[in-house]
Amino acid sequence: MKYNKKTIEDIEVSGKKVLVRCDFNVPMKNGVITSDKRIVSAMPTIKYLLDKGAAVIACSHMGKPEPSFDKYAAKQAEKGKTVTKEDWEKMMKSLSLKPVAQRISELLGGKEVKMAADVCGESATSMAAALKPGEIMLLENTRFEKGETKNDPELAKKLASMAEVFVSDAFGTVHRAHATTAGVADYLPAVSGYLIAKELGVMGKALADPDRPFVAILGGAKVSDKLNVISNLLEKVDTLIIGGGMAYTFMAAKGYGIGTSLFDSEKVDYCKEMMAKAEKNGVKLLLPVDTVVAKAFPDPIDGAIEVESVDADKIPSDKMGLDIGEKTREIFADAVKNAKTVVWNGPMGVFENPTLAKGTIAVAQALADSSATTIVGGGDSAAACEQLGFADKITHISTGGGASLEFLEGKDLPGVACLQDK
Ligand code: AMP
Repeated sequence: MKYNKKTIEDIEVSGKKVLVRCDFNVPMKNGVITSDKRIVSAMPTIKYLLDKGAAVIACSHMGKPEPSFDKYAAKQAEKGKTVTKEDWEKMMKSLSLKPVAQRISELLGGKEVKMAADVCGESATSMAAALKPGEIMLLENTRFEKGETKNDPELAKKLASMAEVFVSDAFGTVHRAHATTAGVADYLPAVSGYLIAKELGVMGKALADPDRPFVAILGGAKVSDKLNVISNLLEKVDTLIIGGGMAYTFMAAKGYGIGTSLFDSEKVDYCKEMMAKAEKNGVKLLLPVDTVVAKAFPDPIDGAIEVESVDADKIPSDKMGLDIGEKTREIFADAVKNAKTVVWNGPMGVFENPTLAKGTIAVAQALADSSATTIVGGGDSAAACEQLGFADKITHISTGGGASLEFLEGKDLPGVACLQDK
């Protein structure tokens, strides 16, 4: 799919009030932002708009607040917890975007970022009305409004009434049809920011017109999470590599004993279908030929663990596979070496444990060493590349795990479908 949506460069923004949906859903600990990556990723769009003399009304969700005390109390009661109104207020306060406003201000060299006390109440609407060209304000956590996740048209209309243009740039939530990701586009001219244009430009090209050989590597826990991705990629790639927990259901489908490894019993037939589809389409499907096994899942997850490596068809009945083995690491790395386009999503093993991270590290290393166009999606694989210091050797690390997977599935993303075509 060629990216053919209008961007901020295709629309007049000077002197206009522009509502920008960003993804400021950053990790926080005790009110402190622990990674500002998502805020930094949003800055090119924000800076462009401010430079052009737009009045920027930025918004985002953060976490999963529950705006109704009664519902919050009921949900906690299901978990056996009794909560007071103060507990609820504390939870809501911990999900305020105030620390984000502070960080944006720092990234803009100390420029004032006005912080609204609500999403589209008295505070936000009066602040937006008074906002001048070149100024920026931030709305409170959009999920403080219960209509947000329901894509309530009344909420979308209210939000739209504050602005003249809508810019969608929250790649991390672009696969969800919410009031601020898609709904507002019904009431305002809607275009994409730089982040979405970049994400979809790189990934769209990889899927529609890849330099070949095109190799995709999938890992992670369950086959059932990646059903459509596997099927869609089998229509596009030259080689599909499957590692991680999902590989064992494929091995079971081949008739191997997999001991106590992760197993999606309902997906065995699906795996057989996919192996047949690969053969029919002339796609090389690579599964692990050896695997690292242990008696039990590590507890704690990063604790010491005794492991051994066995061939994929010789997993002892009382052991579980937790990483790809050494021969497999070489085979997977070789496939990457010969590729011109590589897409990777999902770890090769329980990479949270240093003893079981070798497969994931080997794949990250292979991508870093490759001169191919390399695209990494999914929080875990992206984190692995960053922790290893390989991030700058990867062509593109997607900021949205779920969104990039749905894109790989070939799905329409609601937050993109609603934008104006070029
Ligand atoms: P996902 O969220 O589907 O990308 O899965 C990521 C999780 O899969 C990580 O937390 C890994 O620890 C886990 N994982 C990877 N390989 C295995 C495996 N062989 N057995 C159990 N869990 C695994």
